[in-house]
Amino acid sequence: MGMKKIPQRQCIGCGEMKSKKEMIRVIKTPEGEIMMDATGKKNGRGAYICPSRECLKKAIKSKGLERSFKMSIPSDIYEALTKEMENIDK
Ligand SMILES: [Zn+2]
Repeated sequence: MGMKKIPQRQCIGCGEMKSKKEMIRVIKTPEGEIMMDATGKKNGRGAYICPSRECLKKAIKSKGLERSFKMSIPSDIYEALTKEMENIDK
């Protein structure tokens, strides 16, 4: 109490709460595309994930993205996200 509140988001992989700045935003665009939003400024419904391959793996396994976006996600989208995450998580 008395501390300044930093907005926190829950990782869809590991489930930890972290500040938005430490996380990557994944969005579903109005066109229904799923993509990573490195700038955090794109329009769309967002979910948050740690910049970690492990968390992405967990999110895929637990269907965290499906739950966040209320849709089934084809494997080619997961492959694209995994490749993007490999560039981020070095
Ligand atoms: Zn995580």
